[in-house]
Amino acid sequence: MLGLYVHVPFCAAICNYCNFNRGLFDGELKARYVETLLKEIRLRARGTPADTVFFGGGTPSLLEPSEIAAVIHACRDSFELTADAEITLEANPEGVTEQRLAGFREAGVNRLSFGVQSFRDEELARLTRLHSAARAGAAFAEARAAGFDNISLDLMMWLPQQTVADWLESVEALIALGPEHASLYMLEVYPNAPLRDAMARSQWSVAPDDDVAEMYLQSMARLDTAGYEQYEISNVAKPGRQSRHNLKYWTDGEWIGFGPGAHSTIDGMRTRNVSGTQEYVAAVVPGGQSLLGLVAEARRLSRKDRMEEALFTGLRLSEGLSADTVRVRYGIDLWAEFGAELQPFRDFGWLIYDEGRLRLTRAGMLLAHDVMAVFLRPEAGPST
Ligand code: SF4
Repeated sequence: MLGLYVHVPFCAAICNYCNFNRGLFDGELKARYVETLLKEIRLRARGTPADTVFFGGGTPSLLEPSEIAAVIHACRDSFELTADAEITLEANPEGVTEQRLAGFREAGVNRLSFGVQSFRDEELARLTRLHSAARAGAAFAEARAAGFDNISLDLMMWLPQQTVADWLESVEALIALGPEHASLYMLEVYPNAPLRDAMARSQWSVAPDDDVAEMYLQSMARLDTAGYEQYEISNVAKPGRQSRHNLKYWTDGEWIGFGPGAHSTIDGMRTRNVSGTQEYVAAVVPGGQSLLGLVAEARRLSRKDRMEEALFTGLRLSEGLSADTVRVRYGIDLWAEFGAELQPFRDFGWLIYDEGRLRLTRAGMLLAHDVMAVFLRPEAGPST
């Protein structure tokens, strides 16, 4: 089934490490953006069932509950949204109240994903985040009071000045709240990030590689004992609470992305919308019936492209890749094709191949990129 992604490109402030497609909140631009978004959804209507809607950003919780309701309504009108569709809204702790959260619930949102990043105030300050650890806890309680029984929290490890013990303190605070799902990412400081300058000015450093491996392995082990199941390199969930939407990206699924810079993968095509919000609102002219100005890039995915992506993303999953599925979809014998190059990783205990499945061990997940590079041989796989 299809997944629907809605990109909301506004934030209350820009964090010093952020590399996403976002800009500062502007009420007038936001109103035009919502209008354009509703038009885009209706223009791309198709009678295909969809079972997820994911509001990502940016900071989707900056939209009004009535605007979220209108977007969900447009999705229902334009796609066959299933009765039990998973409808996720990303939210930042500082901008929500119990009343706003109840409004989102009323609008049809049934899953929240809070960008917490850390439960230590000094780390949040280094990241120029607007919330405190206490506010994150309060926002979680408000979400529960508003009726949300499916909540995910994001945390980031490898922060400036963060020790293994600091990181585990945040993980403990998360476990104490008991969300249904958690995402644990490693901070990547991209070349022009203001955080890079701040780190140089303040002489902040990040933990050595061995400590990062400890951060990852110890937190995952702790989450295991707290009843979470790791189902992807960076994601854990209570049983049955995996992100249905994100699984589409990792299991060779199809989705349509609406909003500035959103990607879609459908009918063997990969498209990307224009990135700038001004450009986006100008692309669908009033009364316009065409999406032509909206699409910045479109390319047909070759069989080899799709296979490489399926191998890459499938290996991110704890359950790994099914050799049978790869054979049926792409006509190759996984081990015959890549086994010789994968065997050294198996010998080191980073990779397991048994019962027709290829999967990374937890230690192997730390080296996932090295293992996945095997699939990128130019000559690998069937031609177009
Ligand atoms: S809130 Fe998220 S999207 Fe917005 S600037 Fe910060 S990290 Fe980027």
